[in-house]
Amino acid sequence: MPGDADVVLVGGRVFTAGPGRTWSRALAVRGDRLVAVGTDTQAERWSGRRTRVVDLGGRTVVPGFVDAHAHMAESAGERGWTRLDRARDLSDAVERLRRAAAATPRGGWVIGIDWDESKWPEGRFLVREDLDRASTDHRVVARRVDCHMGSLNSRSLEAASDLAGTRGFEVDASGRPTGVLKEDAFAEFHARFEGDESAIERGLPAMARMAHRLGITSVHDVVGVAQWRAYQRAHLRGRLGLRVYAMVRHDLLAPLVDAGLGTGFGDAWLRLGAIKVFSDGSLGAHTASLADPYADRPGEKGMLVHSPSDLHDLLERAHRAGFQTATHAIGDAAIRLVVESLEAIQDADPRDDARHRIEHYELPDEDVLRRTNAARLIASCQPNFVGQWSAPGDLYEKRLGRARAARNNPYRRFVRRRIPLCFGSDGMPYGPLYGIHWAVTGPFADQRISPEDAFRAYTVGGAYAARGRDGAGSLHPGALADFVILDGDPFRRPETIARCRARETWIGGARVFTAATS
Ligand SMILES: [Zn+2]
Repeated sequence: MPGDADVVLVGGRVFTAGPGRTWSRALAVRGDRLVAVGTDTQAERWSGRRTRVVDLGGRTVVPGFVDAHAHMAESAGERGWTRLDRARDLSDAVERLRRAAAATPRGGWVIGIDWDESKWPEGRFLVREDLDRASTDHRVVARRVDCHMGSLNSRSLEAASDLAGTRGFEVDASGRPTGVLKEDAFAEFHARFEGDESAIERGLPAMARMAHRLGITSVHDVVGVAQWRAYQRAHLRGRLGLRVYAMVRHDLLAPLVDAGLGTGFGDAWLRLGAIKVFSDGSLGAHTASLADPYADRPGEKGMLVHSPSDLHDLLERAHRAGFQTATHAIGDAAIRLVVESLEAIQDADPRDDARHRIEHYELPDEDVLRRTNAARLIASCQPNFVGQWSAPGDLYEKRLGRARAARNNPYRRFVRRRIPLCFGSDGMPYGPLYGIHWAVTGPFADQRISPEDAFRAYTVGGAYAARGRDGAGSLHPGALADFVILDGDPFRRPETIARCRARETWIGGARVFTAATS
Protein backbone atom coordinates (compact mmCIF):
# COMPACT_ATOMS: atom_id res chain seq x y z
CA MET A 1 0.00 0.00 0.00
CA PRO A 2 1.15 3.61 -0.48
CA GLY A 3 3.56 4.75 2.18
CA ASP A 4 5.67 1.64 2.49
CA ALA A 5 8.13 1.73 -0.40
CA ASP A 6 11.75 0.91 0.44
CA VAL A 7 13.17 3.41 -2.02
CA VAL A 8 11.67 6.21 -4.07
CA LEU A 9 13.76 7.67 -6.89
CA VAL A 10 12.58 11.02 -8.26
CA GLY A 11 13.66 13.72 -10.70
CA GLY A 12 15.09 11.47 -13.41
CA ARG A 13 14.49 10.68 -17.04
CA VAL A 14 13.16 7.14 -16.96
CA PHE A 15 13.06 5.24 -20.26
CA THR A 16 10.46 2.56 -19.47
CA ALA A 17 10.85 0.65 -22.79
CA GLY A 18 7.22 -0.27 -22.24
CA PRO A 19 4.41 -0.55 -24.75
CA GLY A 20 2.53 2.33 -23.06
CA ARG A 21 4.23 5.45 -21.77
CA THR A 22 7.84 5.50 -22.91
CA TRP A 23 9.17 8.17 -20.56
CA SER A 24 8.60 8.83 -16.85
CA ARG A 25 10.38 10.74 -14.10
CA ALA A 26 10.28 8.55 -11.03
CA LEU A 27 10.22 5.01 -9.58
CA ALA A 28 9.12 3.49 -6.29
CA VAL A 29 10.59 0.16 -5.17
CA ARG A 30 9.21 -2.23 -2.56
CA GLY A 31 10.84 -5.60 -2.01
CA ASP A 32 12.01 -6.92 -5.36
CA ARG A 33 9.35 -5.07 -7.37
CA LEU A 34 8.49 -1.66 -8.72
CA VAL A 35 5.29 -0.33 -7.17
CA ALA A 36 5.16 2.95 -9.08
CA VAL A 37 6.60 4.32 -12.33
CA GLY A 38 5.39 7.78 -13.26
CA THR A 39 5.58 11.38 -12.12
CA ASP A 40 7.43 12.45 -8.98
CA THR A 41 4.09 12.86 -7.21
CA GLN A 42 2.96 9.37 -8.19
CA ALA A 43 6.16 7.86 -6.83
CA GLU A 44 6.29 10.04 -3.69
CA ARG A 45 2.84 8.81 -2.73
CA TRP A 46 4.63 5.53 -1.83
CA SER A 47 7.08 7.32 0.44
CA GLY A 48 6.66 6.72 4.19
CA ARG A 49 8.72 7.06 7.38
CA ARG A 50 11.16 4.25 6.52
CA THR A 51 11.43 5.07 2.82
CA ARG A 52 14.72 6.29 1.41
CA VAL A 53 14.20 9.06 -1.14
CA VAL A 54 16.82 9.50 -3.86
CA ASP A 55 17.06 12.49 -6.15
CA LEU A 56 18.18 11.30 -9.57
CA GLY A 57 19.27 14.82 -10.53
CA GLY A 58 18.00 14.46 -14.09
CA ARG A 59 19.93 11.26 -14.75
CA THR A 60 18.70 8.69 -17.24
CA VAL A 61 17.28 5.41 -15.94
CA VAL A 62 16.77 2.40 -18.21
CA PRO A 63 15.59 -1.17 -17.58
CA GLY A 64 18.32 -3.64 -16.60
CA PHE A 65 20.14 -4.91 -19.67
CA VAL A 66 19.48 -8.43 -20.89
CA ASP A 67 22.52 -9.87 -22.63
CA ALA A 68 20.60 -12.33 -24.81
CA HIS A 69 23.62 -14.32 -25.95
CA ALA A 70 26.31 -14.85 -23.36
CA HIS A 71 28.91 -17.40 -22.31
CA MET A 72 29.45 -16.25 -18.75
CA ALA A 73 29.55 -19.65 -17.09
CA GLU A 74 31.95 -20.92 -19.73
CA SER A 75 34.13 -17.85 -19.19
CA ALA A 76 33.90 -18.39 -15.43
CA GLY A 77 35.70 -21.71 -15.92
CA GLU A 78 38.42 -19.99 -17.94
CA ARG A 79 40.01 -17.81 -15.30
CA GLY A 80 43.76 -18.08 -15.40
CA TRP A 81 43.81 -18.58 -19.14
CA THR A 82 45.87 -16.18 -21.22
CA ARG A 83 43.93 -13.47 -23.00
CA LEU A 84 45.20 -12.70 -26.48
CA ASP A 85 42.65 -10.08 -27.54
CA ARG A 86 45.08 -7.28 -26.78
CA ALA A 87 48.00 -8.82 -28.63
CA ARG A 88 49.42 -6.25 -31.07
CA ASP A 89 50.40 -8.85 -33.61
CA LEU A 90 51.00 -12.56 -34.01
CA SER A 91 54.46 -12.50 -32.39
CA ASP A 92 53.08 -10.61 -29.41
CA ALA A 93 50.44 -13.34 -28.98
CA VAL A 94 53.16 -16.01 -29.08
CA GLU A 95 55.22 -14.03 -26.57
CA ARG A 96 52.27 -13.85 -24.16
CA LEU A 97 51.85 -17.63 -24.41
CA ARG A 98 55.60 -18.13 -23.90
CA ARG A 99 55.44 -16.11 -20.66
CA ALA A 100 52.40 -18.10 -19.51
CA ALA A 101 54.26 -21.34 -20.26
CA ALA A 102 57.27 -20.18 -18.24
CA ALA A 103 54.95 -19.87 -15.22
CA THR A 104 53.32 -23.29 -15.77
CA PRO A 105 54.76 -26.67 -14.67
CA ARG A 106 56.19 -28.73 -17.54
CA GLY A 107 53.62 -30.89 -19.26
CA GLY A 108 50.72 -28.63 -18.17
CA TRP A 109 48.19 -26.86 -20.32
CA VAL A 110 48.79 -23.33 -21.55
CA ILE A 111 45.56 -21.98 -22.93
CA GLY A 112 45.23 -18.75 -24.84
CA ILE A 113 41.87 -17.28 -25.80
CA ASP A 114 40.35 -14.61 -28.01
CA TRP A 115 43.05 -14.11 -30.62
CA ASP A 116 41.83 -12.34 -33.73
CA GLU A 117 44.16 -12.37 -36.74
CA SER A 118 42.01 -9.77 -38.50
CA LYS A 119 43.50 -7.19 -36.09
CA TRP A 120 47.10 -8.26 -36.78
CA PRO A 121 49.42 -7.03 -39.55
CA GLU A 122 50.31 -10.67 -40.36
CA GLY A 123 46.60 -11.29 -41.05
CA ARG A 124 46.95 -15.08 -40.72
CA PHE A 125 45.90 -17.80 -38.29
CA LEU A 126 48.26 -19.12 -35.62
CA VAL A 127 49.63 -22.54 -36.61
CA ARG A 128 51.59 -25.26 -34.82
CA GLU A 129 55.05 -23.80 -35.62
CA ASP A 130 54.05 -20.48 -34.03
CA LEU A 131 52.87 -22.19 -30.87
CA ASP A 132 55.94 -24.43 -30.73
CA ARG A 133 57.88 -21.20 -30.30
CA ALA A 134 55.83 -20.56 -27.13
CA SER A 135 56.74 -23.98 -25.75
CA THR A 136 57.39 -27.55 -26.75
CA ASP A 137 57.25 -28.75 -23.11
CA HIS A 138 53.62 -27.75 -22.57
CA ARG A 139 50.34 -28.40 -24.28
CA VAL A 140 49.67 -25.02 -25.86
CA VAL A 141 46.22 -24.28 -27.30
CA ALA A 142 45.06 -20.91 -28.59
CA ARG A 143 41.35 -20.46 -29.21
CA ARG A 144 40.22 -17.94 -31.81
CA VAL A 145 37.83 -15.18 -30.65
CA ASP A 146 34.84 -16.85 -32.37
CA CYS A 147 35.41 -20.13 -30.43
CA HIS A 148 34.87 -22.04 -33.68
CA MET A 149 38.54 -22.89 -34.08
CA GLY A 150 41.77 -23.19 -32.19
CA SER A 151 45.45 -23.72 -32.90
CA LEU A 152 47.58 -26.37 -31.22
CA ASN A 153 51.31 -26.80 -30.75
CA SER A 154 52.97 -30.15 -31.44
CA ARG A 155 52.57 -31.32 -27.83
CA SER A 156 48.82 -30.60 -27.96
CA LEU A 157 48.51 -32.31 -31.32
CA GLU A 158 49.82 -35.49 -29.67
CA ALA A 159 46.87 -35.25 -27.28
CA ALA A 160 44.56 -34.77 -30.28
CA SER A 161 45.95 -37.51 -32.52
CA ASP A 162 42.78 -39.60 -32.20
CA LEU A 163 40.84 -36.73 -33.78
CA ALA A 164 42.70 -36.95 -37.11
CA GLY A 165 40.04 -37.46 -39.76
CA THR A 166 37.32 -35.72 -37.72
CA ARG A 167 35.70 -32.90 -39.66
CA GLY A 168 37.68 -29.71 -39.07
CA PHE A 169 41.03 -31.40 -38.30
CA GLU A 170 43.25 -29.54 -40.75
CA VAL A 171 46.19 -31.10 -42.57
CA ASP A 172 48.47 -29.64 -45.24
CA ALA A 173 48.99 -30.97 -48.79
CA SER A 174 51.33 -33.65 -47.47
CA GLY A 175 48.84 -34.81 -44.83
CA ARG A 176 50.69 -33.26 -41.87
CA PRO A 177 48.50 -31.54 -39.24
CA THR A 178 48.79 -27.74 -39.46
CA GLY A 179 47.75 -27.35 -35.83
CA VAL A 180 44.43 -25.77 -36.79
CA LEU A 181 41.28 -27.49 -35.55
CA LYS A 182 37.84 -26.17 -36.48
CA GLU A 183 34.22 -26.94 -35.58
CA ASP A 184 33.69 -30.67 -34.77
CA ALA A 185 37.37 -31.44 -34.18
CA PHE A 186 37.92 -28.36 -32.03
CA ALA A 187 34.70 -28.87 -30.06
CA GLU A 188 35.79 -32.41 -29.14
CA PHE A 189 39.26 -31.27 -28.20
CA HIS A 190 37.90 -28.38 -26.14
CA ALA A 191 36.21 -30.78 -23.72
CA ARG A 192 39.68 -32.10 -22.80
CA PHE A 193 40.94 -28.89 -21.23
CA GLU A 194 37.90 -26.88 -20.13
CA GLY A 195 37.16 -26.08 -16.50
CA ASP A 196 35.06 -28.41 -14.34
CA GLU A 197 31.98 -27.46 -12.39
CA SER A 198 33.81 -26.35 -9.23
CA ALA A 199 36.14 -24.12 -11.23
CA ILE A 200 33.10 -22.61 -12.93
CA GLU A 201 31.30 -22.01 -9.65
CA ARG A 202 34.38 -20.32 -8.20
CA GLY A 203 34.54 -18.04 -11.24
CA LEU A 204 30.87 -17.04 -11.31
CA PRO A 205 31.01 -14.20 -8.75
CA ALA A 206 33.66 -12.37 -10.79
CA MET A 207 31.50 -12.69 -13.90
CA ALA A 208 28.48 -11.34 -12.00
CA ARG A 209 30.53 -8.37 -10.78
CA MET A 210 31.60 -7.63 -14.34
CA ALA A 211 27.97 -7.84 -15.49
CA HIS A 212 26.80 -5.48 -12.75
CA ARG A 213 29.45 -2.95 -13.71
CA LEU A 214 28.08 -3.00 -17.28
CA GLY A 215 24.42 -2.70 -16.22
CA ILE A 216 23.58 -6.30 -17.12
CA THR A 217 20.88 -7.80 -14.88
CA SER A 218 19.95 -10.89 -16.95
CA VAL A 219 21.86 -13.18 -19.27
CA HIS A 220 20.78 -15.81 -21.74
CA ASP A 221 23.76 -18.03 -21.13
CA VAL A 222 24.85 -21.01 -23.18
CA VAL A 223 25.38 -24.01 -20.89
CA GLY A 224 26.42 -27.65 -20.91
CA VAL A 225 26.05 -29.94 -17.91
CA ALA A 226 28.98 -28.49 -15.93
CA GLN A 227 27.79 -24.89 -16.37
CA TRP A 228 24.17 -25.79 -15.52
CA ARG A 229 25.22 -27.61 -12.36
CA ALA A 230 27.48 -24.73 -11.31
CA TYR A 231 24.59 -22.31 -11.76
CA GLN A 232 22.28 -24.53 -9.72
CA ARG A 233 24.81 -24.75 -6.91
CA ALA A 234 25.35 -21.00 -6.89
CA HIS A 235 21.60 -20.44 -6.91
CA LEU A 236 21.00 -22.83 -4.00
CA ARG A 237 23.56 -20.84 -2.01
CA GLY A 238 21.81 -17.62 -2.95
CA ARG A 239 24.91 -16.46 -4.78
CA LEU A 240 23.76 -16.24 -8.37
CA GLY A 241 23.83 -12.43 -8.56
CA LEU A 242 22.30 -12.38 -12.05
CA ARG A 243 19.13 -13.68 -13.62
CA VAL A 244 20.08 -16.59 -15.86
CA TYR A 245 18.06 -18.00 -18.73
CA ALA A 246 20.07 -21.10 -19.58
CA MET A 247 20.33 -22.01 -23.25
CA VAL A 248 21.15 -25.68 -23.16
CA ARG A 249 23.39 -27.44 -25.67
CA HIS A 250 21.43 -29.64 -28.03
CA ASP A 251 22.96 -32.94 -26.87
CA LEU A 252 21.01 -32.50 -23.62
CA LEU A 253 17.64 -32.39 -25.40
CA ALA A 254 16.91 -36.11 -25.07
CA PRO A 255 17.55 -36.39 -21.31
CA LEU A 256 15.57 -33.20 -20.65
CA VAL A 257 12.61 -34.50 -22.66
CA ASP A 258 12.84 -37.84 -20.82
CA ALA A 259 12.79 -35.98 -17.50
CA GLY A 260 9.69 -34.08 -18.57
CA LEU A 261 11.41 -30.70 -18.38
CA GLY A 262 10.84 -27.86 -20.82
CA THR A 263 11.61 -24.24 -21.58
CA GLY A 264 10.46 -21.98 -18.75
CA PHE A 265 11.06 -24.38 -15.86
CA GLY A 266 12.70 -22.59 -12.94
CA ASP A 267 12.23 -19.29 -11.16
CA ALA A 268 12.97 -15.59 -11.61
CA TRP A 269 16.71 -16.25 -11.07
CA LEU A 270 17.49 -19.46 -12.92
CA ARG A 271 15.37 -20.80 -15.72
CA LEU A 272 15.69 -23.50 -18.29
CA GLY A 273 15.67 -21.69 -21.64
CA ALA A 274 16.06 -22.66 -25.25
CA ILE A 275 17.78 -25.64 -26.82
CA LYS A 276 20.93 -24.22 -28.42
CA VAL A 277 21.68 -25.64 -31.85
CA PHE A 278 24.45 -24.88 -34.33
CA SER A 279 23.64 -24.73 -38.02
CA ASP A 280 26.92 -23.28 -39.32
CA GLY A 281 30.23 -21.82 -38.13
CA SER A 282 31.75 -18.34 -38.31
CA LEU A 283 32.86 -15.93 -41.03
CA GLY A 284 36.27 -15.59 -39.38
CA ALA A 285 36.94 -19.34 -39.65
CA HIS A 286 35.45 -19.54 -43.19
CA THR A 287 32.84 -21.95 -41.78
CA ALA A 288 29.69 -19.78 -41.93
CA SER A 289 27.52 -21.31 -44.68
CA LEU A 290 27.19 -18.96 -47.67
CA ALA A 291 25.07 -19.19 -50.84
CA ASP A 292 28.04 -17.96 -52.90
CA PRO A 293 31.75 -18.63 -52.25
CA TYR A 294 33.94 -16.63 -49.90
CA ALA A 295 35.59 -13.65 -51.56
CA ASP A 296 38.99 -14.68 -50.14
CA ARG A 297 38.60 -18.47 -50.63
CA PRO A 298 37.22 -19.02 -54.12
CA GLY A 299 35.24 -22.24 -54.34
CA GLU A 300 34.59 -22.46 -50.57
CA LYS A 301 31.12 -21.80 -49.19
CA GLY A 302 31.58 -22.76 -45.56
CA MET A 303 29.85 -25.69 -43.89
CA LEU A 304 26.68 -26.90 -42.27
CA VAL A 305 27.12 -28.46 -38.83
CA HIS A 306 24.19 -30.88 -39.35
CA SER A 307 22.76 -32.10 -42.62
CA PRO A 308 19.49 -30.31 -43.48
CA SER A 309 17.43 -33.37 -42.54
CA ASP A 310 19.28 -33.89 -39.23
CA LEU A 311 18.83 -30.21 -38.39
CA HIS A 312 15.14 -30.44 -39.20
CA ASP A 313 14.72 -33.53 -36.99
CA LEU A 314 16.53 -31.93 -34.09
CA LEU A 315 14.51 -28.71 -34.23
CA GLU A 316 11.29 -30.68 -34.67
CA ARG A 317 11.95 -32.88 -31.64
CA ALA A 318 12.60 -29.81 -29.51
CA HIS A 319 9.54 -27.98 -30.84
CA ARG A 320 7.20 -30.94 -30.29
CA ALA A 321 8.45 -31.29 -26.71
CA GLY A 322 7.54 -27.65 -26.07
CA PHE A 323 11.07 -26.32 -26.13
CA GLN A 324 12.10 -23.04 -27.61
CA THR A 325 15.05 -23.42 -29.98
CA ALA A 326 17.94 -20.99 -30.48
CA THR A 327 19.85 -21.84 -33.63
CA HIS A 328 23.20 -20.33 -34.48
CA ALA A 329 23.06 -19.23 -38.14
CA ILE A 330 25.42 -16.61 -39.59
CA GLY A 331 25.74 -17.17 -43.35
CA ASP A 332 22.86 -16.46 -45.75
CA ALA A 333 22.55 -20.15 -46.72
CA ALA A 334 22.40 -21.29 -43.09
CA ILE A 335 19.83 -18.64 -42.16
CA ARG A 336 17.61 -19.60 -45.09
CA LEU A 337 17.84 -23.27 -44.14
CA VAL A 338 16.90 -22.61 -40.51
CA VAL A 339 13.98 -20.34 -41.45
CA GLU A 340 12.66 -22.92 -43.91
CA SER A 341 12.98 -25.73 -41.34
CA LEU A 342 11.17 -23.76 -38.65
CA GLU A 343 8.43 -22.70 -41.11
CA ALA A 344 7.73 -26.33 -41.98
CA ILE A 345 7.89 -27.48 -38.35
CA GLN A 346 5.51 -24.78 -37.15
CA ASP A 347 3.12 -25.36 -40.08
CA ALA A 348 2.86 -29.04 -39.19
CA ASP A 349 2.50 -28.39 -35.45
CA PRO A 350 1.36 -24.83 -34.74
CA ARG A 351 1.95 -23.63 -31.19
CA ASP A 352 1.14 -20.32 -29.62
CA ASP A 353 4.24 -18.58 -28.57
CA ALA A 354 6.95 -20.98 -29.68
CA ARG A 355 9.25 -17.95 -30.08
CA HIS A 356 12.03 -19.84 -31.83
CA ARG A 357 15.16 -17.76 -32.18
CA ILE A 358 17.96 -17.47 -34.66
CA GLU A 359 21.28 -16.53 -33.08
CA HIS A 360 23.56 -14.04 -34.89
CA TYR A 361 21.39 -13.89 -38.06
CA GLU A 362 24.05 -11.77 -39.74
CA LEU A 363 23.32 -12.10 -43.47
CA PRO A 364 19.58 -12.43 -44.07
CA ASP A 365 18.26 -11.44 -47.49
CA GLU A 366 14.99 -9.61 -48.11
CA ASP A 367 12.99 -12.78 -48.84
CA VAL A 368 14.27 -14.39 -45.63
CA LEU A 369 13.37 -11.28 -43.62
CA ARG A 370 9.79 -11.46 -44.87
CA ARG A 371 9.54 -15.13 -43.99
CA THR A 372 11.18 -14.62 -40.60
CA ASN A 373 8.47 -12.14 -39.73
CA ALA A 374 5.67 -14.34 -41.08
CA ALA A 375 6.93 -17.28 -38.96
CA ARG A 376 7.30 -14.99 -35.89
CA LEU A 377 10.93 -15.98 -35.42
CA ILE A 378 13.20 -13.88 -33.22
CA ALA A 379 16.45 -12.35 -34.48
CA SER A 380 19.06 -12.56 -31.70
CA CYS A 381 21.91 -10.29 -32.79
CA GLN A 382 25.23 -8.92 -31.50
CA PRO A 383 25.69 -5.29 -32.55
CA ASN A 384 29.22 -5.34 -31.08
CA PHE A 385 30.16 -7.54 -34.07
CA VAL A 386 29.38 -4.53 -36.25
CA GLY A 387 31.98 -2.55 -34.34
CA GLN A 388 34.52 -5.38 -34.30
CA TRP A 389 34.46 -6.63 -37.88
CA SER A 390 31.97 -4.94 -40.20
CA ALA A 391 33.42 -1.54 -41.14
CA PRO A 392 34.65 -1.05 -44.72
CA GLY A 393 38.00 -2.83 -45.08
CA ASP A 394 37.45 -5.05 -42.02
CA LEU A 395 37.13 -8.83 -41.77
CA TYR A 396 33.58 -9.10 -43.16
CA GLU A 397 34.55 -7.23 -46.32
CA LYS A 398 37.57 -9.50 -46.79
CA ARG A 399 35.43 -12.61 -46.41
CA LEU A 400 32.34 -11.44 -48.28
CA GLY A 401 33.47 -8.80 -50.76
CA ARG A 402 32.15 -5.26 -50.65
CA ALA A 403 28.58 -5.73 -51.93
CA ARG A 404 27.72 -8.66 -49.67
CA ALA A 405 29.46 -7.14 -46.64
CA ALA A 406 27.29 -4.02 -46.95
CA ARG A 407 24.29 -6.25 -46.24
CA ASN A 408 25.46 -7.52 -42.85
CA ASN A 409 23.36 -7.00 -39.74
CA PRO A 410 20.66 -4.78 -41.29
CA TYR A 411 18.84 -3.96 -38.02
CA ARG A 412 16.90 -1.12 -39.63
CA ARG A 413 15.23 -3.60 -41.95
CA PHE A 414 14.33 -5.83 -39.01
CA VAL A 415 12.71 -2.93 -37.17
CA ARG A 416 10.85 -1.81 -40.29
CA ARG A 417 9.48 -5.33 -40.73
CA ARG A 418 8.69 -5.63 -37.01
CA ILE A 419 10.83 -8.73 -36.60
CA PRO A 420 11.26 -9.35 -32.86
CA LEU A 421 14.84 -8.34 -32.13
CA CYS A 422 17.00 -9.00 -29.10
CA PHE A 423 20.60 -7.97 -28.56
CA GLY A 424 23.44 -9.77 -26.83
CA SER A 425 27.22 -9.73 -26.99
CA ASP A 426 28.38 -13.34 -27.32
CA GLY A 427 31.03 -12.03 -24.92
CA MET A 428 33.03 -10.35 -27.71
CA PRO A 429 33.29 -8.23 -25.60
CA TYR A 430 30.52 -7.90 -23.03
CA GLY A 431 29.00 -4.42 -22.83
CA PRO A 432 25.45 -3.43 -23.78
CA LEU A 433 26.30 0.25 -24.19
CA TYR A 434 29.13 -0.63 -26.55
CA GLY A 435 26.70 -2.74 -28.60
CA ILE A 436 24.02 -0.06 -28.56
CA HIS A 437 26.58 2.46 -29.75
CA TRP A 438 27.20 0.36 -32.87
CA ALA A 439 23.49 -0.33 -33.47
CA VAL A 440 22.93 3.43 -33.52
CA THR A 441 26.08 4.54 -35.36
CA GLY A 442 27.04 1.50 -37.51
CA PRO A 443 28.93 2.09 -40.78
CA PHE A 444 26.04 1.12 -43.06
CA ALA A 445 22.71 2.97 -43.13
CA ASP A 446 20.75 -0.30 -42.90
CA GLN A 447 22.51 -1.12 -39.62
CA ARG A 448 21.48 2.07 -37.85
CA ILE A 449 18.41 2.21 -35.61
CA SER A 450 17.23 4.80 -33.07
CA PRO A 451 18.60 4.74 -29.50
CA GLU A 452 15.07 3.85 -28.31
CA ASP A 453 14.90 0.80 -30.58
CA ALA A 454 18.45 -0.23 -29.63
CA PHE A 455 17.71 0.01 -25.88
CA ARG A 456 14.48 -1.95 -26.47
CA ALA A 457 16.42 -4.74 -28.18
CA TYR A 458 18.83 -4.90 -25.20
CA THR A 459 16.00 -4.92 -22.61
CA VAL A 460 12.40 -5.86 -23.50
CA GLY A 461 13.62 -7.61 -26.66
CA GLY A 462 15.63 -9.99 -24.49
CA ALA A 463 12.73 -10.55 -22.09
CA TYR A 464 10.46 -11.39 -25.02
CA ALA A 465 13.10 -13.76 -26.38
CA ALA A 466 13.01 -15.57 -23.01
CA ARG A 467 9.28 -16.09 -23.47
CA GLY A 468 8.52 -13.29 -21.01
CA ARG A 469 4.95 -12.13 -20.61
CA ASP A 470 3.63 -8.93 -22.17
CA GLY A 471 5.64 -5.97 -20.95
CA ALA A 472 8.37 -8.14 -19.42
CA GLY A 473 11.67 -6.33 -19.18
CA SER A 474 10.06 -2.87 -19.15
CA LEU A 475 9.69 -0.59 -16.15
CA HIS A 476 6.09 -0.61 -14.96
CA PRO A 477 4.30 -1.12 -11.63
CA GLY A 478 4.52 -4.79 -10.71
CA ALA A 479 7.70 -5.41 -12.73
CA LEU A 480 10.89 -6.73 -11.15
CA ALA A 481 12.95 -3.78 -9.92
CA ASP A 482 15.86 -4.37 -12.33
CA PHE A 483 17.17 -1.06 -13.65
CA VAL A 484 20.27 0.96 -14.39
CA ILE A 485 21.04 4.58 -13.62
CA LEU A 486 23.31 5.94 -16.35
CA ASP A 487 25.97 8.60 -16.45
CA GLY A 488 25.38 10.48 -19.68
CA ASP A 489 22.31 10.80 -21.89
CA PRO A 490 22.38 8.32 -24.77
CA PHE A 491 18.95 9.42 -26.01
CA ARG A 492 19.49 13.15 -26.37
CA ARG A 493 23.14 12.78 -27.38
CA PRO A 494 23.46 9.48 -29.27
CA GLU A 495 26.97 10.39 -30.39
CA THR A 496 28.09 10.01 -26.76
CA ILE A 497 26.70 6.50 -26.15
CA ALA A 498 30.11 4.86 -26.28
CA ARG A 499 31.20 7.08 -23.37
CA CYS A 500 28.04 6.50 -21.27
CA ARG A 501 28.48 4.27 -18.23
CA ALA A 502 26.33 2.48 -15.70
CA ARG A 503 26.41 4.54 -12.51
CA GLU A 504 24.22 2.19 -10.47
CA THR A 505 22.81 -1.24 -11.23
CA TRP A 506 19.80 -2.58 -9.34
CA ILE A 507 18.53 -6.14 -9.41
CA GLY A 508 15.35 -7.20 -7.64
CA GLY A 509 15.25 -3.96 -5.65
CA ALA A 510 18.85 -4.27 -4.42
CA ARG A 511 21.64 -2.02 -5.56
CA VAL A 512 24.40 -4.36 -6.72
CA PHE A 513 26.80 -1.84 -8.24
CA THR A 514 27.76 1.78 -7.67
CA ALA A 515 30.43 3.47 -9.75
CA ALA A 516 33.26 4.99 -7.73
CA THR A 517 32.68 8.74 -7.77
CA SER A 518 35.68 10.84 -8.62
ZN1 LIG B 1 27.84 -17.85 -28.76
